[in-house]
Amino acid sequence: MIYDITQPLFECVVFPGDPKPEKIPLRRMTEGSAYNLTSMSLCLHNGTHVDAPFHFLQDGKSINLLPLTKFIGPAWVEHHAGDVTAEDAAAILARAAASGTGAEKRILVKGPATLSLEAARVFAAAGIDLFGNESQTVGPENAPAAVHRVLLGAEVVLLEGIRLAQVPDGAYLLNCAPLNLSGCDGSPCRAVLLDLGAFCGAASRKEGDRTAIAQNRSNGPASLPLGAPCAAASAVNTPASGADLSSGADADAAPAREGTGAPPSSAQS
Ligand SMILES: [Zn+2]
Repeated sequence: MIYDITQPLFECVVFPGDPKPEKIPLRRMTEGSAYNLTSMSLCLHNGTHVDAPFHFLQDGKSINLLPLTKFIGPAWVEHHAGDVTAEDAAAILARAAASGTGAEKRILVKGPATLSLEAARVFAAAGIDLFGNESQTVGPENAPAAVHRVLLGAEVVLLEGIRLAQVPDGAYLLNCAPLNLSGCDGSPCRAVLLDLGAFCGAASRKEGDRTAIAQNRSNGPASLPLGAPCAAASAVNTPASGADLSSGADADAAPAREGTGAPPSSAQS
């Protein structure tokens, strides 16, 4: 099972004061062009997105400098309504750790919850990689700065504006990798949760092991095994710079479109 926990970008909830995302048609086949081509304008904190330390800390890391292991790995989903206190945060971490999956490194709170400053300190002290919630910010909407500084100061990535209504509480494999945006304070992402049993065990195991996984699943997430794909997810390599890798493809595509007006031979980038 794959849970898409991402808002549609152009229909997303916009944080008060931020610009709205905008789709800008550049070429349309309905208007005689050989292809459709679209540009867009957006705030990096529109919709479902991740915050980098640079968002609230002038000397903090920008989004491209954070290792992908922050964004990809086991995560814990738990419903909470109202303020998340320090005691709540400690209890959530304990339940996540008891799953035996490593999910306590990435905490996703489901429902109308507001992270308190004290709870942020608990998560920061625990050294988690990521905290996410359904709000467009983390902390009180009228005063989110202190909570942001505590978490981002500890290089805890913030995943904001997710949608968890369809996701049962428990442990999953999260992927919310950002775009490789040099020097930026955040990035939109396509956040998904994968069922740990299906994706991290069954695909790489023999039939007998599948039976064991099914039995473990019936016992709840506490005994779910992590297979090779999950181990691999914690060892993702990040290129030092994406610029060299992408510029070649762009350079090839641009003349075909812009120079001759002819459609490129392959799909648009
Ligand atoms: Zn943000």
